[in-house]
Amino acid sequence: MQLVENASLKPYNTFGIEAKAKQLGTLKSVEDAIACLSLINNANQFLILGSGSNLLFTKNFDGLVLVNQITGNEILSENDSDIFLKVYGGENWSELVDFTVENGWGGLENLSLIPGTVGAAPVQNIGAYGVELKETLVSLEAIDLGTGEVIRLTNKDCEFSYRSSIFKTSAKGRFLILSVLFRLSKNPTPNLTYGPLKAAFKDISENSVSVKNVSEAVKAIRRSKLPDPEELGNAGSFFKNPVVSFAKVEELIVQFPEMPFYKVDEEKFKLAAGWLIEKSGWKGKRIGDAGVHEKQALVLVNYGKATGMEIFNLSKQIQLSVKKQFGIDLENEVTIF
Ligand code: FAD
Ligand code: NAP
Repeated sequence: MQLVENASLKPYNTFGIEAKAKQLGTLKSVEDAIACLSLINNANQFLILGSGSNLLFTKNFDGLVLVNQITGNEILSENDSDIFLKVYGGENWSELVDFTVENGWGGLENLSLIPGTVGAAPVQNIGAYGVELKETLVSLEAIDLGTGEVIRLTNKDCEFSYRSSIFKTSAKGRFLILSVLFRLSKNPTPNLTYGPLKAAFKDISENSVSVKNVSEAVKAIRRSKLPDPEELGNAGSFFKNPVVSFAKVEELIVQFPEMPFYKVDEEKFKLAAGWLIEKSGWKGKRIGDAGVHEKQALVLVNYGKATGMEIFNLSKQIQLSVKKQFGIDLENEVTIF
């Protein structure tokens, strides 16, 4: 594997931020990954990078960046109801979903058009339209970067939760995810719980809705309201949706009766961060080239020449406004470097 010194990270992050990595290498095989363990251990700091669609560089990265491009997939087994598909981490997520949809296998269709790699998907347990990765992930293989061992982690080992897993918490930076094993259904039932999907199929019986129908509907909805990073730099939702107590919902609903909220469990409720930001007056606002998307206030955008620091400063101002108006702390979903 060749290392590039002082490499530009602009092609490697969907915000399109100009930052430099001290060293950058591309992993094409598991052997590449194992061979660079000593480089990782000797590096000042290191970063395993997929497509850079969930991070923000606010400064140069003074260390080693390894871009995961280990690709391939294989069906490990199947029975009357399920397919067990192993997919390497450098595969493109959206292309994987298209492949499963073309085959009529169910499970990933609500996660259509999410940018990024398969190897990064478990990190934040990607989710959309009422479906999360954890529902189809059986296990994954990863290199323990401390010991060099290739190990298997079960779904339970990954401790998946809302937009999180051990890879964001207790095991942050410890593993390089090599591959993911999915269990996909040959007899899928559609999940149309989210309003826009329900509306798209309101005149059709659920039994006649195919995974392809769902995937196409999700793509159409996403294209209508989310900026394409190829055209406008962004990293999707900048903040997580806050989860609060019912007492907090009761307090807010008096002042904002139209506020959307969703039950998480008996005690907790999820609020829509985009709604809170919009209500705080930020939707469509722009400071220099850093902005808040005009159709979805949860998405911060780079109109061209914004620096990572400018986007970060904008995010801080938004957090302050939301705290002041609603008494709620917005937590970053995007990882800041
Ligand atoms: P990167 O940004 O490269 O990395 C993210 C993190 O994962 C980093 O900490 C990195 O070190 C780590 N990582 C990456 N690969 C590996 C690996 N192989 N092993 C170990 N660690 C690794 N997310 C959702 O959940 N739902 C959505 O609907 C959604 N929509 C989006 C829409 C847009 C327009 C954009 C730009 C982003 C969206 N996202 C969404 C966020 C993003 O697509 C996902 O988080 C995606 O999984 C990130 O993949 P990546 O390869 O770009 O990861
Ligand atoms: P939306 O449909 O405008 O809904 C706003 C928020 O309300 C969403 O964040 C969603 O939470 C929540 N919500 C809506 N209906 C719900 C229901 N029936 N049950 C529970 N929660 C509900 O959202 P959007 O911005 O267009 O995004 C659509 C989907 O794509 C969402 O699932 C969102 O998470 C996902 N998405 C994620 C990213 C990212 O970067 N993470 C970027 C774009 C889109 P959840 O977010 O918890 O689903």
